[in-house]
Amino acid sequence: MPSATPEPLTQPLAGGLPGACVEVHRFVCGRVRVPRERLAGSPSRLARLRGLGLWPGGERVAIPILAFAVRHPRAGWLLVDTGLHPAVRVDPRSNLGRLGALALGDPELAPGASAAERLRALGVEPQMVSVVILTHLHLDHVSAAGEFAHALFVLDRAEWDAAFAAGPLEGYVRAQFDLAFSWRTIDFTREPARSHATFGRTFDLFGDGSVVLVSTPGHSAGHLSVLLRARKRQVLVCGDAAGTYETLRSQAMPAIVHDRHLYERSLQELRLFAREYPQALLVPGHEPSFLAGPGDLAL
Ligand SMILES: [Zn+2]
Repeated sequence: MPSATPEPLTQPLAGGLPGACVEVHRFVCGRVRVPRERLAGSPSRLARLRGLGLWPGGERVAIPILAFAVRHPRAGWLLVDTGLHPAVRVDPRSNLGRLGALALGDPELAPGASAAERLRALGVEPQMVSVVILTHLHLDHVSAAGEFAHALFVLDRAEWDAAFAAGPLEGYVRAQFDLAFSWRTIDFTREPARSHATFGRTFDLFGDGSVVLVSTPGHSAGHLSVLLRARKRQVLVCGDAAGTYETLRSQAMPAIVHDRHLYERSLQELRLFAREYPQALLVPGHEPSFLAGPGDLAL
């Protein structure tokens, strides 16, 4: 039995403000080294084992773990994904599990780089974060969830169900998210979920168009991306629906996806959005070049 029973989110959260724009900070909250097959590779059994880090050899690529701090003018501070937990600095297995620590080879979290520490550097105490949106529950996205006990956690219902039915081989470490916090789940097949821009299924979190959750399943059962209306442009937090810029450009598929057809369909939706809204900024979930940039980048 999960420690918490999530409540379905059937209407937007309070705090909406017509025409609101949000402030967006992209944080690099850790670096891991994953087998190249995690980013692109054939769907063979060997590629899958390599991708999981369970087969020796092969090349590893350093990728960032991202989180996004978002300030809404009325609803306050939100976080999209959580980055790596500070415990990873001392004992990666305690947070990521044995398999997870292996799969993420040498996870690194620099001093001051956790989401909570980066927020403090902006003058924001972690308990001021009112909502944490989770793109999905994979270990590298929900690692630091425990740092935000005061927040309301929002995710796709399908992801919650899938994560509790799966385990480390599917990328889930239950101890990271089986927390007695406040959880709200979204059913993208029901009202008030609707189409928005080029996307088939979305949920307008505050009902004002500033933070729109976009259903992009495939990488995991209930993956979502987040479309933010920032002052200068729209920012689309892709999550693992598109891991890198190369994913967005090419036909290369990661070796491990939950559902290849849904993954491709979601990716097509992201590409269509990029074409129709050329001013928008798409942010892939693990773009390696972000490691060369600043830890905190206002978008
Ligand atoms: Zn993932």
